[in-house]
Amino acid sequence: MNRIAKMPKIELHVHVEGATTAEVFYSLSEQNNIKLPVKNIEEWKKYFEFKNFAHFINVYITAVSALKKVEDYAFIIENFYKHQASQNIVYTEAFLSASFMVQQFNQSEILDAIAYGMQKGSEKYGNQINFIPDIARNIPDSQNDVLDFVIEGKKRSLFIGLGLGGMEQGFPPELFEEVYAEAKRNNLHIVAHAGEASGPDSIWGAINKLNVERIGHGVRCLEDDTLINYLSKHQIPIEVSPTSNYCLGIVKKNENHPIRKMVDAGLFCTLNSDDPAMFSTNLENEYNLLAKQGFSFEELKQLNINAINASFLSKEEKNNYLSLL
Ligand SMILES: [Zn+2]
Repeated sequence: MNRIAKMPKIELHVHVEGATTAEVFYSLSEQNNIKLPVKNIEEWKKYFEFKNFAHFINVYITAVSALKKVEDYAFIIENFYKHQASQNIVYTEAFLSASFMVQQFNQSEILDAIAYGMQKGSEKYGNQINFIPDIARNIPDSQNDVLDFVIEGKKRSLFIGLGLGGMEQGFPPELFEEVYAEAKRNNLHIVAHAGEASGPDSIWGAINKLNVERIGHGVRCLEDDTLINYLSKHQIPIEVSPTSNYCLGIVKKNENHPIRKMVDAGLFCTLNSDDPAMFSTNLENEYNLLAKQGFSFEELKQLNINAINASFLSKEEKNNYLSLL
């Protein structure tokens, strides 16, 4: 086993639904009598493979439509613990696509199912995961229901924060200002995807209007020197996901990933897999990719340490994980 595989890892930006495999979605669609736009599992696996952004959104929506019962969420959450543990990821902060849940399910039933999946997963695999439900920004009408769901889940110690995902263009951070302020008043941690499909304005909005504690993706900060200086000075953590950026065309395939420029500019970067099943990657692969692009093992280890320090763990818990490295 190489040093990257052996290193106990921390991941802060990964979506449970995006880490769920084509096979699992296929078997749930059969159980739930959901018609997928394919004839058999082989075709579904091909359909599931990443092709382009529009297709990716279709895959995501089609795959998530196979989740019809609250028990399906318990099942994919338990599986997610296994997926993380198999890569020696000892601690994870993971997103759940809450806009889909609040539209479909009774709140207490879905919270019970999530609690059950968490209990089963942590008992079986022993890794620690904290969950951050997120609002799909392209379904802005769901935001108040998502906030309510997250506050209830926090009371039951299921959730630690609120996120903002989905389509960035056309749905700027400003639309979610009040819900984010309310989340903060409820002592939730707050994060948002920004600076991925949209440019620096989206990151400024996430900082100034939403007061986020971390930025998801953030790679397009490199288009604005003032923003780079701000992010560096305030050491705002950035959750970088290289393979996701390549797949979605945020970074050109034939270029090295700009995380090198971000690290060299003194930015507080962490490394993440985002939607690993849909982008055919995982966290270990992300570290290997940067190793191929010239990062030394010490630099990779520092990204992992950054993830511990950027996490929402207590000081004591952070020290426990730091002592493993
Ligand atoms: Zn993401």
